[in-house]
Amino acid sequence: MKIYDVVIIGSGGAGMMAALTAAKAGRSCIVLEKGKHLSVSNAARAGGPSLADTLLQEKEKCTVTAETMFRHMYAFSRGTVDGGLLYRCIRNGRKAEALLTESGIHMRLTEDLYHAGFRARHFFDTPAPERWERLGKKLTEYGGELVLGTCAKELLAENGRVCGVAAENTADGRMVSYHGRAVIIASGGYLGNKEMLKQHFGDISVGPLGSRLSDGAGISMALRAGGVEDRSWGICAGEFGGWHSRMKGRFPGNMRWAMTGGLLVDREGRRFMDEQLLADQPLSVGGEITLRAGSYYAVLDEEFYQGVRAARSVYDYYGRPGDWETGKTVHDKGPWPFREDLEKDIGEGWALRCDSLREAAEHFSLPFLEETVKQYNGMCEAQCDTEFGKNSWLLKPVRKTPFYVFAYEPSAWCTLGGVKTDSFCRVLDGKQHPVPGLYAAGVDNGSCYCAPYYDTEGACLGLALTSGITAAEHILEQVNF
Ligand SMILES: Cc1cc2nc3c(=O)[nH]c(=O)nc-3n(C[C@H](O)[C@H](O)[C@H](O)COP(=O)(O)OP(=O)(O)OC[C@H]3O[C@@H](n4cnc5c(N)ncnc54)[C@H](O)[C@@H]3O)c2cc1C
Repeated sequence: MKIYDVVIIGSGGAGMMAALTAAKAGRSCIVLEKGKHLSVSNAARAGGPSLADTLLQEKEKCTVTAETMFRHMYAFSRGTVDGGLLYRCIRNGRKAEALLTESGIHMRLTEDLYHAGFRARHFFDTPAPERWERLGKKLTEYGGELVLGTCAKELLAENGRVCGVAAENTADGRMVSYHGRAVIIASGGYLGNKEMLKQHFGDISVGPLGSRLSDGAGISMALRAGGVEDRSWGICAGEFGGWHSRMKGRFPGNMRWAMTGGLLVDREGRRFMDEQLLADQPLSVGGEITLRAGSYYAVLDEEFYQGVRAARSVYDYYGRPGDWETGKTVHDKGPWPFREDLEKDIGEGWALRCDSLREAAEHFSLPFLEETVKQYNGMCEAQCDTEFGKNSWLLKPVRKTPFYVFAYEPSAWCTLGGVKTDSFCRVLDGKQHPVPGLYAAGVDNGSCYCAPYYDTEGACLGLALTSGITAAEHILEQVNF
């Protein structure tokens, strides 16, 4: 029976970094991947990670120290994450960069789109299907192993210590046991698990923009092995606009109305926040806002609808591009690039064009809609949002027929929230003791991501990569070889 130094569940950001770290150090490791290809993970499709202290930053003379990045992110988390873990991960930024570069993955630095105060986001120049193949090739060169089509089902334990994984070959259903001195769970969260989404966010629909192969199995296995959940549960939300489960095809143009700063109402037809917040901080605060609302609706009149469509962008329409925190820099890329087909959207049941607000209220069951619009129009006239204090230049009345109403639900690139760990990624039990032999990294790790998601673009993947390294390094130090 072969005993690996490390068995890793998942070939995404955390899993591959952990494997490369172990294999490069001459340790035996195997990665179990449920998907049939190495390009299935969210990490393989992601734009790029935020990292500190990298050579790229050094070259461009814009170094972001780990300390600066840590202070910013920890302050944003309000202490809801394990500070030691966060700092340890962030300090592994240069190592992550080195592993990616050695594997032939090229990156460049992007601008500070989300106004974090530093340029930490590294953008992949190597195209999506190819870059993870390159990591796989490097892993093999270093002597690491990888098996595709292999779904981890249960952890093996002996004398209270996790010592391997029982996995199913997805082609023929055969069960195979992989034995190891330590196991890292890095299976990418629970976006594909409706029950888990319901458990944490209620009976609402969360649009899966990322892989549904990540179905919470890793988190559940860790809990069955004695681990406990940490407390922050959230999403890294979609920033391109609203989403709806009835939408067919990706990114219809009419999803944009969720993020134009115009009137939004909740499932009863009442306003529920300053709409600019969603447009400005869609990935982080936007996730919490939309999860809380569950369903929400953009309500526009003909003037706003046609005005925005005729302008180069919504920011040009308002004529105040400088007054957005991040929305403009993220979205103002010229004419809306996505398909626009109102009739199709109406046919799918999430869009409506109508001649009266009563019709809209009845169609979508929004009992307070008419009253809300009346009040809102009054505030527009007075140029003062007495309800949520929205910037007055965003106050456009909803008056001219026809009206347009678009129904939206939250959407997520990936989930946040998972297993509680210490600052070395060791899974903790209810008494705060490590479960021997068990680690959690990436978004399965509930102790390094906060909800709302960080306002640091690329933090999702950045922490996945660096937590994988953190877990592997600790195993290399601790396991008695
Ligand atoms: C299209 C897209 C773009 C994104 N862009 C960015 C970005 O630019 N910057 C950023 O920071 N974040 C981005 N994200 C989010 C980011 O990709 C994730 O946060 C990150 O990949 C998480 O890494 P991970 O290792 O935890 O999980 P993943 O990368 O999702 O990997 C998990 C792996 O585990 C496998 N798996 C699941 N269950 C099992 C099982 N039972 N047995 C074996 N294997 C299993 C999955 O198939 C998957 O391959 C993006 C996400 C998507 C979908």
